[in-house]
Amino acid sequence: MIRAIRGMRDLLPPETERWQQVELAARELFRRYGYQELRLPLLERTELFARSIGAETDIVAKEMYTFTDRHGDSVTLRPEATAQVVRAFLEHGLAKAPGVKKYFLIGPMFRYERPQKGRYRQFHQINCEALGSDAPELDAEVILLLLDILREVGLGQVKLLLNSLGCPGCQVDFKAELKLFLFDREGWCPDCERRRAVNALRVFDCKSAHCQGLLQGAPALVDFLCPDCARHYARIKELLGRFQVDFEEQPRLVRGLDYYTRTTFEVTAAGLGAQDAVAGGGRYNGLIRELGGPDLPGIGFAIGQERLMEVLPPTAAGARRELLFLAYVGEAARDRALALLYELRQQGLAALMDFDHRSLKSQMSLADRLQAAAAVILGESELEEGVAQVKWLADSRQERLPLAELAGSLAARLRAPA
Ligand code: ATP
Ligand code: MG
Repeated sequence: MIRAIRGMRDLLPPETERWQQVELAARELFRRYGYQELRLPLLERTELFARSIGAETDIVAKEMYTFTDRHGDSVTLRPEATAQVVRAFLEHGLAKAPGVKKYFLIGPMFRYERPQKGRYRQFHQINCEALGSDAPELDAEVILLLLDILREVGLGQVKLLLNSLGCPGCQVDFKAELKLFLFDREGWCPDCERRRAVNALRVFDCKSAHCQGLLQGAPALVDFLCPDCARHYARIKELLGRFQVDFEEQPRLVRGLDYYTRTTFEVTAAGLGAQDAVAGGGRYNGLIRELGGPDLPGIGFAIGQERLMEVLPPTAAGARRELLFLAYVGEAARDRALALLYELRQQGLAALMDFDHRSLKSQMSLADRLQAAAAVILGESELEEGVAQVKWLADSRQERLPLAELAGSLAARLRAPA
């Protein structure tokens, strides 16, 4: 038997239905906030990610699925979405669109990481990107949107972590101070040993508990913000307060990509163990120019769908599907059921029947095992009277409904609150 590749999961029903619900809710909220969808390729030129994410980040240093295609070009399965959103934005001249350019993208990402709970090699993200404004109102709005999505899908208890990384100007003095601190201490992991020399900020993103311990008492970027960045950050906190959003300032939150400036944030949820970040995001004011475009700011977030699914409350056990099963006795009823099957589907109802000439008893058992909401039974006497026998499988309640308005009556009953 050939098995799936390690770290790549098959998503099966009923899990896929839950995924659809989550994505539907996200799409609806994106619509309300004025976002439009992008669908972009899974493969990009390697240099896109190498240039934008940063050579010392975990993603570029060790997690990318990179290979040479038949033409000899180096290509990479996308590890994240922002870089390619900016690539497409520039390639198609979207900067000319009016107002803030707001996009969402839902799909798989690929990182060669050690598979474990909440960490896979193919995982999925719901991404949000807003390009063209540096206003702190936009930062606050993006965070509100993220929290709205999480609340809408049923994730009530979350923690919002917030930080500001300032602009490149603020980072100059800070990095000098941080380097002094890092070189003052020994015992860093080999990665951080290298990072402290070439990209000191990255040490904050180290996963090792030991390095995190050594970082106690490290200087904080928020203490080095220039007046503009400090005002920007203060305004975001003020706005979040006005919208009654609780947050916790986390001065070490730099996040895993080099291109972040000013605002960074993360949402964590209990019950995920070590991988507790459900979503993360931030501002990337230098990225668009870095990739050869105009000097435009941007901000976004990504929700990790696997981690989100993991912490959502389970759907009610034994819940039946919104599905009707047509059962019949005899050839005439079978033909009528075939027609009815089509009619019900035309009316928007989900309906199935058996084509394999089973007995009524095994049709009923099949309906039950398929978790149908009701079995609609047609026999000779029902046909004569122009009715169907409907058995609601959750409680075995039965009723006779006129065939003429069957779809309408069933739809009303299926949609009525239980
Ligand atoms: P982590 O610190 O957990 O490695 P990250 O900083 O690498 O996260 P981002 O690049 O910000 O993560 O991606 C946004 C979200 O995508 C994360 O908060 C997480 O929910 C999810 N995510 C990231 N990597 C994985 C993975 N390998 N498997 C499953 N989900 C992931
Ligand atoms: Mg990571």
